[in-house]
Amino acid sequence: MFMDIPASGEGGYEPLPPRCHSCKQFIAPGSPTETVAFPVDQEHHLEDLNGLYHADCARPYLSIYRALDMLSRPFF
Ligand SMILES: [Zn+2]
Repeated sequence: MFMDIPASGEGGYEPLPPRCHSCKQFIAPGSPTETVAFPVDQEHHLEDLNGLYHADCARPYLSIYRALDMLSRPFF
């Protein structure tokens, strides 16, 4: 998602960069990121993992996501 930031040069503060949902470190502008978006799951609450991650930090979650995605497909 691209957000339009007004280039007024005023305001006196910079918006904080987003934090990685896994390691809680700031994600530097321009660094590779992944968004994890599990469907809402009443049983496992995987949606708690949803958020923005460093690309490296997201890797294990994305593999879970892909595994679940395959399991949720019909077998025939
Ligand atoms: Zn991270």
